[in-house]
Amino acid sequence: MRISDDRYSRDRLRIDAAMWFLQHEARTRTIRQWTGLTDDRIRKLYHSYLRGGGRTTRHRGKSPRQAAFFMRTARMRDEASALASLCCLVGLFDGPRRQPELRPTAGVDRAASLRQAYEGYRATVHAPSIGLEHAVLLVHALTRGNELRLGDCRDCGALLVVDALALRPALCSLCATDRTGTSGPPRPSSPGTWGSVSAAAS
Ligand SMILES: [Zn+2]
Repeated sequence: MRISDDRYSRDRLRIDAAMWFLQHEARTRTIRQWTGLTDDRIRKLYHSYLRGGGRTTRHRGKSPRQAAFFMRTARMRDEASALASLCCLVGLFDGPRRQPELRPTAGVDRAASLRQAYEGYRATVHAPSIGLEHAVLLVHALTRGNELRLGDCRDCGALLVVDALALRPALCSLCATDRTGTSGPPRPSSPGTWGSVSAAAS
């Protein structure tokens, strides 16, 4: 009896997670990886979601793969750092902070952590521009560590997503602005919120 209860609640968690991925227009492959559901079940969930009045766009083809996406602009570097800080806070990464590791089995527990981090990011950052598929890409890129890694701002110690091959020490956009005396790029959220997220993840 206990086992079937556990199975039921586990299945419920998978379905809840899959519906959340669908709302954020994730691809089937991504949903399968994070929930363990079959393509057939994901398709059925998608149709029931639409019948229930849900709106979404099905994206075809491969998920985004270019980790350089997160380094393109100061604003994107800021947003990636905020999201990565939240991923650390919710325990999405195992291992020491400098060498994040994904748990070997992709499980629905990890999907719940991703959801917490991603929703926190969307609530914290003004006009967030990282979609869920790119959030997943960021998590994988930080885990691989060959293109992106977690680092610290040299001046204030805030947690940053940095280019794994960069030779110069990293600066957050606030410290970079202080050094150049320019107005710098617009901050995605108030410095107070930002600072507390970064500091808490340190
Ligand atoms: Zn700084």
